[in-house]
Amino acid sequence: MGRLDGKVTLITGGARGQGAEEARLFASEGATVIITDVLDEEGRACAADIPRTTYLHLDVRSEAAWEEIVAGVIRTHGRVDVLVNNAGIDLAKRFELTTLDDWERVVAVNQTGVFLGMRTVGRAMISAGTGGSIINVSSVAGMEGVRGRAAYGSTKWAVRGITKVGALEWGEHGIRVNSIHPGFIETPMTADLKAFKDPETRVRAEKVVSLRRMGQPLDIAWMALFLASDESSYCTGQEFVVDGGVHH
Ligand code: NAD
Repeated sequence: MGRLDGKVTLITGGARGQGAEEARLFASEGATVIITDVLDEEGRACAADIPRTTYLHLDVRSEAAWEEIVAGVIRTHGRVDVLVNNAGIDLAKRFELTTLDDWERVVAVNQTGVFLGMRTVGRAMISAGTGGSIINVSSVAGMEGVRGRAAYGSTKWAVRGITKVGALEWGEHGIRVNSIHPGFIETPMTADLKAFKDPETRVRAEKVVSLRRMGQPLDIAWMALFLASDESSYCTGQEFVVDGGVHH
């Protein structure tokens, strides 16, 4: 028996990285998985390799697209039990060099995308009356200030904040809302960062991590599985840091 048997789960930004790993783990625990992304080729290929998994194009910045996708999932599967707001983009730039365009681009995906996902799926969960679990992917940059992450860090603090509002307002409907705060995770997002690709810098970066290694997507997927499953049924409005011991 799987921990997610019969659950309908929707993961944004699921074509690769952490989202794809969550799709694999959720499906192995019996879930029906819908991965969404803007990378159609990678998304389709990823879904084709995972049982009970389909890929749909969803740009999380679009209100109309969210309405269409959620209505379609409900038509096909009857409901949504779990939403993972995982899609995100990074921006490493000094504060004084950050342009308004930079700021708006990052906010649109990382913050507005999470708001739209929560609201659209939250409404569907409320009308279905069956509760659910919403998992928002923030960052350690949403727990503390990180140099070079004025725009990115702001969105991740915002995600942490909106998580708590959702939890407060929707607890009465049996909807749980929590955030995950990954540290340094090895994915396509971080592949070009010096801390990952330059061996000497990587050794130095790993010394900042108590467990002395970079995180892997599966480290985050296990936490997402816990929050998606009934094993976390008394957890809501909380932040779950998964960073090998960087943030203290
Ligand atoms: P990733 O780049 O591999 O995956 C992010 C996915 O989001 C990609 O598939 C991308 O196409 C998708 N995406 C981007 N813009 C989108 C849009 N407008 N609509 C829909 N999808 C879109 O990176 P990842 O490391 O797997 O990141 C997953 C989440 O984890 C992100 O929210 C990221 O900010 C967060 N995070 C990552 C790290 C890390 O070290 N990798 C650390 C902390 C937090």
